[in-house]
Amino acid sequence: MARNMSPKKTEMPAQPADVRSRNFEEVALGYTHEMALAEAARCLQCKHKPCVSGCPVGIDIPGFIGKIAEDDMESAYRILIQDNALPAVCGRVCPQESQCEGVCVRGIKGESVGIGRLERYAADWFATHACDLPPKPVPNGLRVAVVGAGPSGLAAAGELARMGYEVTIYEALHVAGGVLVYGIPEFRLPRAIVLNEVKALEELGVKVETNVVIGRTLTVDELFDMGHEAVYIGSGAGLPNFMNIPGESLKGVYSANEYLTRINLMNAFLKDATTPVMAGKRVAVVGGGNVAMDAARCARRMGAQEVYIVYRRGMQELPARHEEVEHAVEEGIIFKTLTNPVRILGDDKGWVTGIECVEMDLGEPDASGRRRPVVKEGSEFTLAMDTVIIAIGTSPNPLLRNTTPGLDTNKWGCFITNGPDGLTSREGVYAGGDAVTGSATVILAMGAGKQAARAIDQYIQEKHANE
Ligand code: FAD
Ligand code: SF4
Ligand code: SF4
Repeated sequence: MARNMSPKKTEMPAQPADVRSRNFEEVALGYTHEMALAEAARCLQCKHKPCVSGCPVGIDIPGFIGKIAEDDMESAYRILIQDNALPAVCGRVCPQESQCEGVCVRGIKGESVGIGRLERYAADWFATHACDLPPKPVPNGLRVAVVGAGPSGLAAAGELARMGYEVTIYEALHVAGGVLVYGIPEFRLPRAIVLNEVKALEELGVKVETNVVIGRTLTVDELFDMGHEAVYIGSGAGLPNFMNIPGESLKGVYSANEYLTRINLMNAFLKDATTPVMAGKRVAVVGGGNVAMDAARCARRMGAQEVYIVYRRGMQELPARHEEVEHAVEEGIIFKTLTNPVRILGDDKGWVTGIECVEMDLGEPDASGRRRPVVKEGSEFTLAMDTVIIAIGTSPNPLLRNTTPGLDTNKWGCFITNGPDGLTSREGVYAGGDAVTGSATVILAMGAGKQAARAIDQYIQEKHANE
């Protein structure tokens, strides 16, 4: 196919905003075959491949796009899967604009190549076409345990299984996927896509044991007693932070984690769901990240008439992905920026009735380089609300630290490791993903799992060589 020099990315069809804001079906509909070919033809096949250095797992981007351009989708998928165990997921949720696409040469004089959209296309194509499965690895008879079936644990498990290890993932919840299934809503990442990628890992030989809480059902020391040579901890950062303002224990106040889990994992949006969630008519979501956008967009779909994002900095400073903010605006979410809640108000029965806020100005930059929000004197005002959702970040759960002697954490409760290898303060125990960095991204969590898997392999091989 001739090179496509259009400065614009090939548009991806999406459900119209007024339709999608009333359903939980996927918003972005994905490329057609022709669209994928047209977009792949925009890639210049740069010799120095800047896009590859922008991808935390180093996917051969021109390689897989070149195969799409040749209409060889199976080869495109096989190139992707060499470096990324979850391409259908990453093609949908990676912050591409600040990673691979952020350094694409086509982005200098126009829009970057739609790398994420093409990754999604190739992965979805493979899932819907009958192709031979990759050959099963030759078992080496050595066992490794992985704690947590989020993207980090899944990536580590996949990498180790491909090396021949017998890997068992122990997952606290009843389903694998971590935040991909309990946090990110169906309309951004359908659960079937995640479960399909988990199935591909199971076909590779990875065992997933759900409903096992390490630190309660079994301890890390017991995992070693059971014959595992090493343990990888990918337990995430699922403990919600609160603002510690008056009124946070009123009825109708949720952490974003609880709100999203009830809706996504427990299907509270279905009429016959056994897990309820409060569907308030006026909902305030406090925070400005992806989690806040997801909670606000869910509230809208649950029937709220007015949904507010309450954020203490300005629109420019919102940490959420640009695309998510754009979608939220299109769906009618109201942005109350430069605003900070100071109290949640309730009635005499203990139900939320509103939030008291103050207006903010932006002062000098703080340690993070962002301008520090400062309170505008005398700017207090009240907004009537039925539901308040707090989405101001999460920390790792202290359970593993408290039940594993010698496992050091920092002041935020994140595991301390030796760097990219992920070795913790305990011999044979490695960690990565949000459990080490605090809340970050899917692809960074996967990159950490993959790198730790290689270090685990080296550790086990050296241990046996010295015996
Ligand atoms: P997790 O995904 O949290 O998985 C950890 C797993 O470990 C969980 O399944 C948990 O149940 C299990 N576990 C915990 N403790 C134990 C235990 N003691 N025993 C057994 N199992 C245990 N990132 C993006 O890149 N793009 C996005 O668009 C995006 N949107 C997001 C939206 C929301 C609502 C949230 C919450 C996060 C979002 N993120 C996004 C961040 C991203 O999802 C995380 O960075 C990523 O999931 C971290 O992966 P992880 O494997 O380290 O942890
Ligand atoms: Fe880009 Fe993410 Fe895919 Fe890497 S995994 S190529 S960063 S979309
Ligand atoms: Fe293709 Fe952009 Fe990568 Fe160049 S930088 S190889 S144009 S994706």
